[in-house]
Amino acid sequence: MKTIASELAYFLRGRVVKNIKYLVYYCIFLAGMIFLYAVLFRYFMWHLEGREFSLIAGIYWSITVMTTLGFGDITFHSDPGYIFAAVVTVSGVVFLLIILPFTLVSLFLAPWIEYRLSHRPEVELPPETSGHVLIFGVDSVTRNLIRRLKIRQIPFAVVTADANEGLNLEDSGVKVVVGSPTDPEVLQGVRVSEARYLIANLSDSENVNLCLTARSLCETPIVALVSEAEHGDLLHLAGANQVIPLHKILGNYLATRATTKGAMAHIIDSFGKLVIAEIPVHGTPFSGLSLSESLIRQHTGLAVIGLWERGNLTLPTADTLLKDDALMVLAGTREQLESLEKLTGEQADEDLIFILGHGRVGCAAASFLDRKPVPFILVDRQENPYCEEHIPIYGDATVRHLLKKSGIDKARGLIVTTNDDNTNIFLTLASRHAQSHIRIVARATADENVAQLYAAGADFVVSSASVGGSILLNIIESKTSVFLTEGINIFRRSIPAVLVGKSIASSNIREKTGCSIVALESHGEADPVVVPSPETVLKKDDALILIGSPMQEEVFSKFYPKNPKN
Ligand code: AMP
Ligand code: ZN
Repeated sequence: MKTIASELAYFLRGRVVKNIKYLVYYCIFLAGMIFLYAVLFRYFMWHLEGREFSLIAGIYWSITVMTTLGFGDITFHSDPGYIFAAVVTVSGVVFLLIILPFTLVSLFLAPWIEYRLSHRPEVELPPETSGHVLIFGVDSVTRNLIRRLKIRQIPFAVVTADANEGLNLEDSGVKVVVGSPTDPEVLQGVRVSEARYLIANLSDSENVNLCLTARSLCETPIVALVSEAEHGDLLHLAGANQVIPLHKILGNYLATRATTKGAMAHIIDSFGKLVIAEIPVHGTPFSGLSLSESLIRQHTGLAVIGLWERGNLTLPTADTLLKDDALMVLAGTREQLESLEKLTGEQADEDLIFILGHGRVGCAAASFLDRKPVPFILVDRQENPYCEEHIPIYGDATVRHLLKKSGIDKARGLIVTTNDDNTNIFLTLASRHAQSHIRIVARATADENVAQLYAAGADFVVSSASVGGSILLNIIESKTSVFLTEGINIFRRSIPAVLVGKSIASSNIREKTGCSIVALESHGEADPVVVPSPETVLKKDDALILIGSPMQEEVFSKFYPKNPKN
């Protein structure tokens, strides 16, 4: 069924659509010709032989003569009539029996055969291929990764056992190899030992098999996305170098953003001792103050390097107002983060979070909230076989009276995390409508639904595709940068030779490149200096952590090419 559909889909694409237009014009021309012959037939019959026929009889006569069927039930009995019938027969042979089939073959059949022959997916990569990323398993996460790899011009190939999926991916400009991902010959054909990375994104059991097969052939680093966090150890045993429990990570993202109690920082990433973390403004004593009034830096040593507001990340200045519904992005050490958590924890007030969906993500969010602890109520249609600690309320979360009966009116925060984006949009809209002040964080599986979730009233949306794609890219690029959001990166560089001995103020890094300094890692110092003062002198073995757009990062690299030893 799928095969027929994909073949039919061919006739709706590109050049073929134009050819269908030509075919329609030709059919109109043929219909016109038949009609003209029918009119002439009636005229000749009446004027030459005195016989009267209807227009339908004329059309019937024209078609039987043109197709050379000639039943012989209606015939002329005069010489001019015979001549007319002969002309109609010859034109029928030319236009109906020769030109029409020829048109069909040349406009449709031949291009289709050519397409099928030229688009047969590859079964191996060229022998000179190396340094490529091999992707096993295509979903919204790996599609997001593919987009990023294309932008960064990192070579990659997708390996799939499904020939149809392969053809569809090829149509969208992706290099595809068709073959079983767990067949050693296929892995050798895609030059696994020469690959830069192998991304295992199949089911957990298939990933285990893939890791074992790849490990029996080579030492190429493997990143495996694991569906159930507890399968991580098995994947490590099978040979995966890194295991990403994406659902657990998403659960943590959602839980930090949902709590209205404050004091729950979520570490996004780290550069050695420097950690980058997020914490909501709501529930902290800083709500409504400007950044300079908040004295966060003076009290904790942490720097606020970004502010999230309804999906937008801005880089704050001293006068930026810390709004209640914003989320601060902080840079500092773990100890500094803890001191902030203590400071904000004292302000704790009553909190209750509803988690709609107790699958892998909802369960991880619940476990994160348990740590604090923040009280929560889980709602799901079905039991989670992997969870032994939580007892959810069973039922469909879209049924409002079920939520009301469970006490949703008392909730301060809501985590919308079913596995269906449409349900999540529906739940977000319904909850925002019923409770205008509730804090809503929602999960999106596909990037294209992020905007709809914000439009439906979510305060924060976390897209698994974006989070997963950026984690994978970071690993592939050996973590030269931390992804904050589309368009803003944090990256680490050693001090460029031309800046050694200069102060930060005289280096003019910001003016020249647009990048801001987040921290300075001084050689011999245990802790990085977060947002160093302008008088700080840059030394040879120091390193800078900077924040900027990918373009600004590129400008930095052009101004200050990397030292060969870095
Ligand atoms: P996961 O993708 O593992 O986080 O699982 C998502 C969870 O959402 C599953 O446990 C589903 O049962 C649950 N779910 C999906 N739709 C609904 C719904 N309408 N009401 C309640 N739970 C739902
Ligand atoms: Zn659970």
